[in-house]
Parts: sequence; structure tokens; C-alpha cells
Amino acid sequence: MPQDNNPSDTPRGGASSLILHEEDLARLPASERIRYRLIGADRRYHANDNISAFVREGELDELKLEVQAKMAEVLKALVIDTDSDHNTQGTARRVAKMFIEEVFRGRYRPMPDVTEFPNISRLNELMIVGPITVRSACSHHMCPILGRLWIGVLPNEHSNLIGLSKYARIADWIMTRPQIQEEAVIMLADELQDRVKPDGLAIVMEADHFCMHWRGVKDDESMMTNSVMRGAFLKDANLRREFLSLLSKKF
Ligand SMILES: [Zn+2]
Repeated sequence: MPQDNNPSDTPRGGASSLILHEEDLARLPASERIRYRLIGADRRYHANDNISAFVREGELDELKLEVQAKMAEVLKALVIDTDSDHNTQGTARRVAKMFIEEVFRGRYRPMPDVTEFPNISRLNELMIVGPITVRSACSHHMCPILGRLWIGVLPNEHSNLIGLSKYARIADWIMTRPQIQEEAVIMLADELQDRVKPDGLAIVMEADHFCMHWRGVKDDESMMTNSVMRGAFLKDANLRREFLSLLSKKF
């Protein structure tokens, strides 16, 4: 029961004041419960934010059912007869599963485990990882963004090293959210900067935005390439040139 009589339980009295107890929350739909915790912790929950820390066990299954019910309403609003149309009978369920478990899973699943190793052999040569396959979606239209990215790392003796396959796993975790390409590469750069702590970090992403093809507008602008350069890649034009020339051979 909400404790309306207790003056210390005023709503939004501070970051830690959850006025509803878990048993009260349990009566709400999972999405409202999760949102309640996010707001209580003063955390942003934009389309490309990871909210896994606020999702409790079993709630993803509840979320899926919620999305399924709302998706069924969308189909109804589109005047599609999902009762007799055998093609769309399971569509709401399939789309809900696809959103939560597949294409947007990077919002709901915690960061993949990545072991970091100290740079014992003091590697300090330019290292390029890629191409890494990008499967994302634009947050404007929820249409696929498919592409590739390359990561350039210039480690120093204090850098942590992570296995090559881990770059792809971190990229996948960031990209499997509704994204904007410019923000996605910055998010990825921040994550890698934090973990690897290199002297220089560069990311180039090239991707095809299906909202452009599908809607038949500006088809020629559907491919977008952008990059982030940090540290040594910003200061050292030769390093930047080396990285980009190695990439141009792979493009
Ligand atoms: Zn779009």
C-alpha cells in the first residue's frame, strides 16, 4: 500500500526516495516498474541507453508480453485483421521477441564479460580491429542500419588489452539499440577508452540506413560514414594517415 499518511514518503524527495515498496511495484506493469526505478535513480533512459541494471529477473518476459499486447494494438490501428489473416496472427509476438531479445537486446542485457590483461609486452604499435559487422536500427524510424566498423588502437604500457573478439562483442552491445550513428560511435569510443585506456583511439563506421531505401527518399544518401579520433589520432597526422590508408585497402 502506498503510505500516503507518512510525510517522510513524499514523492521525489530525493534520488533514493522510492515511495513505492517492491510489493506495490509488483502490481504495476513491468515497464512502469522499471521506469519507476530509473526515475528514482535519476537515470536517463533514452533509446540508446542500457537499462539492464534496473531490470529484475523475469521482467524481460513480462516486458515482452507488454510489447506484444501494444504491438497487437498497432496492428489493429493499421486495420489489419489479425484474427483471420494467418500471416499476421503471430506478428505481435514475433516483433516483441525480436525487439527485446534480438535487435534491441543491447538495452536490456548487461555489458558482456570482457577480461582485461595488463600490457606486459608493452605493445605500442598501431593495432586495427575490423571490419566488425554492425547491425543496428535508427531511433528515428526503427529501421535497420547495417554496416561495418573499424577500430584503431594505439596502446601504451599502462593500457589494458582485451581480446580481439571482445571488441566485436562490445560493439554489438552498443549497436543493438535504437541508435543514431553519430552517437553510436561516440558511445563505443567512450566504452573502449574507459576499458583499454590507450594513447589513441580511432573508430570509423560505414553503414547503410534502410529508412532511406525503404521510404524511397534520398536513396543516394543512405550510406553514411563517420569517425571518431581521440588522443594520438587527433594530434598525430601521420598516425591518422596510417590508420586511414590501412582502412582504404580494406574498404
Ligand atoms: Zn531513420
